[in-house]
Amino acid sequence: MEEVTRFAPSPTGWLHLGHAHAALFARRLGRRCLLRIEDIDAARCRPAFAEALREDLDWLGLAFDGPVRVQSAHMAEYAAALEALRVRGLLYPCFCTRADIAAAASAQHGPSGLVYPGTCRGRPDAAALLAQGAAHAWRLDVARSVATTGPLSFQERGEGRLPCDPRPHGDVVLARKDVPASYHLCVAHDDAAQGVTCVTRGEDLRPATAIHRLLQALLGWPEPRYAHHRLLAGPDGRRLAKRDGAPSLRALRAAGHSPAAVRAMAGPA
Ligand code: GLU
Repeated sequence: MEEVTRFAPSPTGWLHLGHAHAALFARRLGRRCLLRIEDIDAARCRPAFAEALREDLDWLGLAFDGPVRVQSAHMAEYAAALEALRVRGLLYPCFCTRADIAAAASAQHGPSGLVYPGTCRGRPDAAALLAQGAAHAWRLDVARSVATTGPLSFQERGEGRLPCDPRPHGDVVLARKDVPASYHLCVAHDDAAQGVTCVTRGEDLRPATAIHRLLQALLGWPEPRYAHHRLLAGPDGRRLAKRDGAPSLRALRAAGHSPAAVRAMAGPA
């Protein structure tokens, strides 16, 4: 199959071997492979990291097709998608703080962290709070949304069609208090906008697919195929992560490793 894939890093640090693995996986699977910079979180992302990652990918010998999409340049598109859901009554404003959510007796852990207990769903003073300018996020009413789409599924490479259910995630945030968009909204939007036919990403993001399938179904976006890849582990057997000091590609380069050696370390996709 002639797939269009993408590599979609967030410029919150230097790329490490786990990213190289993901990028090589996307490149190998895609006849066309796109690069997307997921930088909506201005507090965590740095332009210097975005520049550095492009340089690291060049050094590794990875070429991407088409223009690079930089999410922070497309906020109006995310706002339009959000509005389309809001006018259908599928979103509600949420005024809770993280502490409120954690303290809620009913807060449960779900596939993507704490499940929102629904405190602000159907809140009678929501309009008044909005009028006062109270800080708020926008959440998707997931149960109501699923009631409109019916059961969902996705096509996983090598596994066939798998059922998926976004409801265990609870009412996810589509627009944050500090950023008027969210990971789920931007990823689903951009995969459609960029014509991605096969979403390649780490296994850790497989649970999010249920939410992305829901957004695609609600907004009439095409359904891509999915190929989730294994996560690279460090010598201790734990998955590589920048917070645990996984060696960056630039550190490996500075230590004298060649691009071919680093590609080999990143392992077969
Ligand atoms: N930006 C995400 C990350 O760096 C990847 C998003 C995706 O592939 O869906 O983990």
